[in-house]
Amino acid sequence: MPIYEFRCEICGLVFEKIQKMDDPWPPCPKCGAEKVFKLPSIFGFTDAASFRSEREQAILKRARDYLIDGKVKDAQRFLTKAQEYVKTDRINKLSEALHQRQPVKGAFVSRTELVVTKKKD
Ligand SMILES: [Zn+2]
Repeated sequence: MPIYEFRCEICGLVFEKIQKMDDPWPPCPKCGAEKVFKLPSIFGFTDAASFRSEREQAILKRARDYLIDGKVKDAQRFLTKAQEYVKTDRINKLSEALHQRQPVKGAFVSRTELVVTKKKD
C-alpha cells in the first residue's frame, strides 16, 4: 500500500499514513480535525523503508545543491527543517557537521551524495 502525506489545515501538522488509494482521508492525529490536505506525492512508495531512503536521498541532494552554491547557512536551515520530518544517521551527521562549521574541509561531493569525511593526516 502506498504512503500518503497529509497536512492538517487546522494545526499544520504533517503526517504520513499508509492506506489504500480509495480509503477516506484520515483525521489529524494531533488535533483530530478532519480538514486535512493530501500533499502531492513525489514518489510512489510501497513501503516505509524505501520511502525513508528515497526521502533521505532527496534531502541530502538538496543540501548538497546548497553547498555547491556555497550556501552553507541555507543548507543548515534546510537540514534542521528536514530533521523534523526525517531523522536518519546520515542527515543527522551532515547537519551536525554543518553546525560545527566543518563542512568544507574534508567534505566531498560524489556523484550521488554529499559525503562528509574528516581529512586523514
Ligand atoms: Zn491538526
